[in-house]
Amino acid sequence: MSKIKLTCDSCGELHSVDTSEFDYDAVDSDERQMGTETTYEGELTITCECGAEISVTHRFWEYPEGSPPNHEEVDIDGGTAA
Ligand SMILES: [Zn+2]
Repeated sequence: MSKIKLTCDSCGELHSVDTSEFDYDAVDSDERQMGTETTYEGELTITCECGAEISVTHRFWEYPEGSPPNHEEVDIDGGTAA
């Protein structure tokens, strides 16, 4: 789908993770006018060359079912979105 770019908070190294490397789970769903809105969430932990562990949580919303994500969100622990 897309790439998420981030920098390590410990050494500043730039990393790029591909969203195809994530394992997504449906974590929430909501019935709306045009059908079901589903929230998917996936988490990936990478280890930087400096030894720091960076955990990336990617969340996106699909509505209606089968359409491209209409909203997404990234949470990074140990790094900063670049
Ligand atoms: Zn680092």
